[in-house]
Amino acid sequence: MPHRAVIALGSNMGNRDFYLRMALCLIGWEVGKVVQRSSVIETPSWGFDSDPFLNQVVVVETDLEPMALLDKLQEIERRLGRTEKSTVVDGKPVYHARTIDLDILDYDRMHLQNERLTLPHPHIAEREFVLAPLRELNIDLLA
Ligand code: ADP
Ligand code: MG
Repeated sequence: MPHRAVIALGSNMGNRDFYLRMALCLIGWEVGKVVQRSSVIETPSWGFDSDPFLNQVVVVETDLEPMALLDKLQEIERRLGRTEKSTVVDGKPVYHARTIDLDILDYDRMHLQNERLTLPHPHIAEREFVLAPLRELNIDLLA
């Protein structure tokens, strides 16, 4: 029996739409079957010095266990987001924002907490950019 994971995608840098679609494609290839996906919404960044985000929530059927799922999502983040290395300008390092953020909102309604992973994701209730796509998909993780 595959497990059911709810994953939040976000991008606020570069070709945001491209990064969302690449991430979804890689998730489909390497995580499992994408059985539901919300519309893509644009939301202002919480950080004052950052560009607005594109956000989306998807549901995936996966055989990966939670930590392996986190490993895989972080690997996808690195592959999509760390293509631009930090550079040095006038002796100072210049860092680049991440192109893609992949968070596990829920995994089989499991409760789990360790140094790398908290399930369900602790900030669902306060993030409208996650709640709105969840409402669209008729998923209530706060129940
Ligand atoms: P954020 O998603 O809060 O903007 P990051 O993407 O940098 O920040 O994640 C920081 C850390 O959060 C990651 O190193 C990861 O180990 C941890 N983490 C804890 N719970 C989760 C979860 N449910 N989904 C994704 N990452 C998580
Ligand atoms: Mg994250």
